[in-house]
Order: sequence, then C-alpha cells, then structure tokens
Amino acid sequence: MFTRTPAELQVLISNVDQAIYNHDQWYDALIATLICHLPYDEHDVHEESFRRCRFGQWLYGEGQRLLHDHASYASIESEHRRMHQLAARLLLTAAEGAPIGVQEYELFTSALKGLRLEASTLKSELEDLLSHVDPLTGVNGRTILLTVLRELHALVKRKVMPCSVVMMDLDHFKAINDTYGHQAGDRVLIAAARYVVEHLRPYDKIFRYGGEEFVLTLQNANSEAALGTVNHLREGLAKMPVHYNEMLIGVTASFGVAPLAPGDTVEQSLDHADQALYAAKSGGRNRAEIWKATVGPVGPTAP
Ligand code: GH3
Ligand code: MG
Ligand code: MG
Repeated sequence: MFTRTPAELQVLISNVDQAIYNHDQWYDALIATLICHLPYDEHDVHEESFRRCRFGQWLYGEGQRLLHDHASYASIESEHRRMHQLAARLLLTAAEGAPIGVQEYELFTSALKGLRLEASTLKSELEDLLSHVDPLTGVNGRTILLTVLRELHALVKRKVMPCSVVMMDLDHFKAINDTYGHQAGDRVLIAAARYVVEHLRPYDKIFRYGGEEFVLTLQNANSEAALGTVNHLREGLAKMPVHYNEMLIGVTASFGVAPLAPGDTVEQSLDHADQALYAAKSGGRNRAEIWKATVGPVGPTAP
C-alpha cells in the first residue's frame, strides 16, 4: 500500500509539478529544434535519452525513491521512455533533411499525450491522498473509508470476490499513555500502523478510524482467510518492540473480522466487525474473532 505522511505527500506533489514543468520546457525546445532546423541536443538522440532530460533525471532519481511503490510509476516510466525514443527518431529524420511522416509525428504526439495524462493523474491522485491522509500515522483517514468499502461491496455483490472488513484496536493503550506519556503513545500508534502497512498485501488497506482504532479492508478474502491474515498481523505486532527514549514498549491489538456481505450495508458490516472486536476484547485481548450472527452484546430480545 502506498502510504506517506502529509509532509511527504506535499514534497512529492511539488516534485511532480516541477517535473511536469521541466518536461514542458523540454518539449518547447524540441519543437523549436524541429521547426527552425536547429542542431539537436546530443542527449535527445542518445539511446538513454529518457534518463537524460530533467524529468528523466528526477524520474530515475528522487522520483523513483519516492514513488517506486505507487501504481502509476511503472506506466509513467514506460510512457516517458517511449516518447523519448519517438522524439529521437523525429530529430534524426529532421537532421537528415528528410520530411517527417504524419504517422511518425502522430505516434510521438500520442505518446506525449499519454505521458501528460499519466503525470496529471498522478498529481491528482497524490492530492486526493493528501486530502484523506491521517496526519499522525500517514495511513488513510476515515473520510475515505466508506467510499472504499462501497467499492469493495460492489465487487462482492457482483460476485467478483469475497471481501472482509476488520476492526483493530490497540490493547490497554491508555496504560501506555499513562506509563510512558502521550508522545510515546503517538510513537506506538505510528509504529503499529506502519507495521500493518508493511505486512498487508498491496491491494489491502488500513484506515485510522479514530484514536487507537483502525479499520482494515481485505480483498479476495472470506472471513476465514481474513482471520488467517489478521492472526499473522496480530502475532507480528505483539513481537514488535517500539523504541522510545531508550525504552522498549510492547503493544498488542485485538481484531474483529466480518464479511462484507452482499445482503448487508457496509455500515452493518462495520458494526459486525465492531461486535467481533468486542468479543475479542472480552475474550482476553491480543485475539481475533470472526463475527457470527450470535456474537455480540446486542441480540434480538424476545418480547
Ligand atoms: P482496550 O484494551 O479496552 O482497548 O483499552 P484501551 O486503554 O486501549 O482503551 P481506551 O478506550 O480506554 O483508551 C484509549 C486511549 O487512547 C485513550 C486516549 O487518550 C488514547 N488516544 C486516542 N488517540 C490518541 C492519540 O492520537 N495519541 C495518543 N498518544 N493517545 C491517544
Ligand atoms: Mg484500545
Ligand atoms: Mg478504542
């Protein structure tokens, strides 16, 4: 999962902006070279021209470091490479004094349009992430949770795949704050969220629901499969020491797992996960429970 703090996202957005601007400048220079029959820049016909323009320098340097795990990175990289290879062909054709064919030029412009679309999509995706990110942990905030749940619910209803929703709550977190202080508590929250991010499959997501509670969405996982995933996370978390001011703080979490059932609303599924979490807490904490219709404090009361 692609997770960045708001500050990191802001740096990335301004980097992408600058990279787009640099690329526009490169394009202006290229057009001037072609139209005014100027000598071309050697870098632009080099077989690795895509690494040599300023956008390319960013893309294979800082951009790669910051974005390699973002879904758009690979497509921008290949579109940019293709566009440069086509541009090199135009420059070499023009330098020979030969006319540039319409088809050749159109191939170049369509690659350029593709690259521009990719870059502006990336920018708006980053802005979108920034508007939803939880400032403390860098994971998704709750504002985007229902949207994601509804998307998954649609997949479930179309029988594309089963999906599960998980409520996760750190155990005795108040005691961590009381013992080590609020800042240490913050550090534990950040570490727990990071641990989950690093151990989830790429298409699964974590949201900070509030305080020390998180929601996980697991794709292509019925409740049993979700329970397996969650138990791995739970065991790993329990072994994860958090370093704070030369102290080691341990933390555990409890989990409630519920299916995103086609006949339930997503709000009901969340509530079911919450009921299962309640059962995990009552069962002694550092546990995961699957929601069952009979689990939970609220049952149908006979008149
Ligand atoms: P349980 O095992 O039943 O979940 O016990 P708990 O102590 O984790 O639960 P409780 O709801 O009693 O306490 C949650 C605590 O989480 C209280 C609140 O001060 C703390 N908390 C909520 N948000 C934050 C935060 O952003 N940072 C820190 N450091 N503490 C927070
Ligand atoms: Mg708690
Ligand atoms: Mg709580």
